[in-house]
This record gives sequence, structure tokens and C-alpha cells, in this order.
Amino acid sequence: MDLQLNDKVAVVAAASRGLGRAVAEALAAEGARLAICSRDRGRITAAADAIRDATGSDVLALECDVTDPAAVARFAATVLDHYGTAHILFTNAGGPPPGSVLDFGADDYAAAVELNLLSTIRLVNAFLPAMQRQGWGRIVASTSISVKQPLPNLALSNVARAGVVAYIKSLSQRVAADNITANTVAPGYIMTERVDQLLDDRAAREERTPAEVREDLAGDIPARRIGRPDEFGALVAFLASEPAAYITGTTLLIDGGMYQGLM
Ligand code: NAD
Repeated sequence: MDLQLNDKVAVVAAASRGLGRAVAEALAAEGARLAICSRDRGRITAAADAIRDATGSDVLALECDVTDPAAVARFAATVLDHYGTAHILFTNAGGPPPGSVLDFGADDYAAAVELNLLSTIRLVNAFLPAMQRQGWGRIVASTSISVKQPLPNLALSNVARAGVVAYIKSLSQRVAADNITANTVAPGYIMTERVDQLLDDRAAREERTPAEVREDLAGDIPARRIGRPDEFGALVAFLASEPAAYITGTTLLIDGGMYQGLM
């Protein structure tokens, strides 16, 4: 299938590693020109060099903390000045710290909302006008399986990410007639450095070996394995494509069957 992404300008937030990096790689492999960011200039530049070497795509790498409104505004201005427009936006950021619902006060919830929800809204506000001007756009927001099934030890994430789904759904209805889609993707467990670290921490807490913890987790997933970043990248590349034009306002799980509900 031709995703028709050649020369499209794709903005990928939080892309120096993990899911964001996998999305950037998938889009570049399909011929998109990239603008990627993360908080550390050295790391995002290294990611850009690697993606450029692997795909030959144009990659603009910029430092931007997505929780900083001025930094997001500078990022968008630089990208739009460099490429003249943006066709695709993948919103993403780090995850809030783990903990259960009563471990946190209102300030902790506010910080999580800032990190995961307000960063999404700021990025959309910055890039949507260019999509509206050209009458074509794809917005994909990264969330988590927790938007379908709250996770016991990730209360901050559960709360902040539900708002992302509500925002993207509302947005999708407003912009669908402009040929702009807006969807959320909800990963279960995809093996990134963050997940690796979370599993190592769990092994230390439970005084078990990291291999035992990984085996147990995989055993709880119907697919009997943790997902790969390239599988996540492929899903986002499809949602960002021309053939996905009629998919909007939805949340797509990518979890190896882990979600237990019907809908
Ligand atoms: P990761 O820690 O491996 O990578 C996170 C990336 O985000 C890095 O490039 C980091 O530099 C960047 N980043 C973090 N905070 C940022 C900020 N404020 N501004 C700009 N860049 C920032 O994590 P990951 O596994 O790729 O996860 C990405 C997001 O998806 C996180 O919010 C995570 O909680 C969520 N998530 C991941 C999984 C999974 O299985 N990997 C599952 C559910 C949800």
C-alpha cells in the first residue's frame, strides 16, 4: 500500500528515543520530511543524524520541552519557517511518575495534566492553522491503554491521559470537514527504555530477576510478548497516511490483546 507520505512534513514531539523515535523512523521511511524535538539538544541531534543516515530524509532537530509554552511556540515558528507548513503532528511527552491514586496531591495532578494534556493542546494550537490553510492534516496523539482501563500504579497518567482523548475527540469533530483527522493511539506495553526501566525497578522491588518480571508480564498479554517500537511506528504512519482519511475521532489500542473490555 502506498501511504502517500512522500515529502509530507511530519512533526514528531519527544522523539529522541522510544515511541516518538519509532514514529519518526516510520514516517521518514515512508518519505516524509521530519521536524523532531526533545528536551536535550545533543540527544535529538543524534537521533536526527541516525534517521537521516538510515532513510535519506530531511530531518530538522530542535530542542523543545513541550511543557514550556514559549518553547513550543519557538519550535513551531522554526518548523513553519523552515518547511513552510506542517501536514502531520504526533503529540508525545514523557510519562508522569508512578504511584496510586491517594499518593498524590492536586499539584502532582496539575503537573501531569501539564505534561500530557496541555502539551498536546499547545502543539495542536501551534500546528493546526497550517493544516487548515492547506486543507489537509493528520493529528495523532499518544496516550496509553490506561484511557480504556486505568492502571493501578499509574494514577497520574490515568487522569491526565483521559483528558487527551476527550480533547482529540472534540477536535476531530471540529476539523473533519477541513480534511484533517485527529486520533489517539493507546499502547499497552511496547519495549522502550522507559518500560525497560520500569520493569527493572519492579524486579528490584519484588526481589526477583528482571527476566522473571518480563516473562510474567508477557504471560499476562494474550500475544505472549511485549510489543516492538516499530509496530507502534507502523500504526501511527498508517493513521497519518492518505488512505486513513476516513478514520477520525477514534482511539486505537496497540496492546497484543491486553485490554480486557469489549469496546
Ligand atoms: P521514553 O522515556 O523511552 O521516551 C520519552 C521521550 O520523550 C524521550 O525522547 C524524552 O527525551 C522525551 N521527553 C520526555 N519529556 C519531554 C518533554 N517534557 N518535552 C519534550 N520531550 C520530552 O518513553 P516511551 O516509552 O517512548 O513513552 C512515550 C510516552 O508514551 C510516555 O508518556 C509514556 O508514559 C507513554 N506510554 C508508553 C508506553 C510503552 O509501552 N512504551 C505505554 C503507555 C504509555
